[in-house]
Amino acid sequence: MNVILFGPPGAGKGTQAKKLVEFYKIPQISTGDILRANVREGSELGLAAKEYMDKGELVPDEVLIGIIKNRLKEADCEKGFMLDGYPRTLPQADALSEILEELKKPIDVVLNFEVPDEALVTRISGRLMCKCGASYHKTFNPPKKAGLCDACGAEVYQRADDSEEAVKNRLKVYKTQTQPLIEYYEQKGLLKTLDGTKNIDLVFEDIKAILLEFA
Ligand code: ADP
Ligand code: ADP
Ligand code: ZN
Repeated sequence: MNVILFGPPGAGKGTQAKKLVEFYKIPQISTGDILRANVREGSELGLAAKEYMDKGELVPDEVLIGIIKNRLKEADCEKGFMLDGYPRTLPQADALSEILEELKKPIDVVLNFEVPDEALVTRISGRLMCKCGASYHKTFNPPKKAGLCDACGAEVYQRADDSEEAVKNRLKVYKTQTQPLIEYYEQKGLLKTLDGTKNIDLVFEDIKAILLEFA
């Protein structure tokens, strides 16, 4: 089962990915998580990516394409994978098609999370993140123990790029650079659009109903 989780920042992709990983036992490939891990480690890639991320700009395509190419070749992707946060531009999508053709792992479905802008801003401004990639919300989905991740126990924090300024820019970047991919995947007959405004458990049920066909 090869799936792309697609949608604007704050749509709930990461939240659903964690639930899907547990349910289907296939890996989540979150380019945001990979980049943040590099920033934390202070790697060369992380240092280069940070300035884009803090401003809410996209990191250059060639960097992301390199990351994805290597990651998809890893053994845990044999049984399937869930892409979260990639592709975000047409060149990234084209590169992905080429990589997957070579690996003989075609995309089965693109899950398109639909959430209006006002809700995205509320979600992102209350988001709490863990270094393990788990994502919480101050009111909609608080950790069981205040301030600590349910999954790994580490302290949760607010992302530097979840400031109001950066969020507004990310939404703008999404609309100009990423949203055109909806049409791209629609034309390939792969797009399934979800109502992402429902609560977390209901969205999960809707996704499972769609994925039934591919599991
Ligand atoms: P969100 O979940 O809010 O959409 P992500 O964690 O996916 O945010 O991404 C955070 C930042 O990492 C982005 O704003 C961007 O700078 C960078 N990034 C992540 N994925 C990509 C990508 N596929 N292409 C370019 N930049 C990316
Ligand atoms: P993305 O990965 O698409 O950027 P996240 O999964 O990190 O989005 O979710 C963004 C924020 O919204 C987080 O604070 C998360 O707890 C919250 N959230 C996710 N799904 C829902 C939902 N269905 N209803 C309300 N809040 C949600
Ligand atoms: Zn954690």
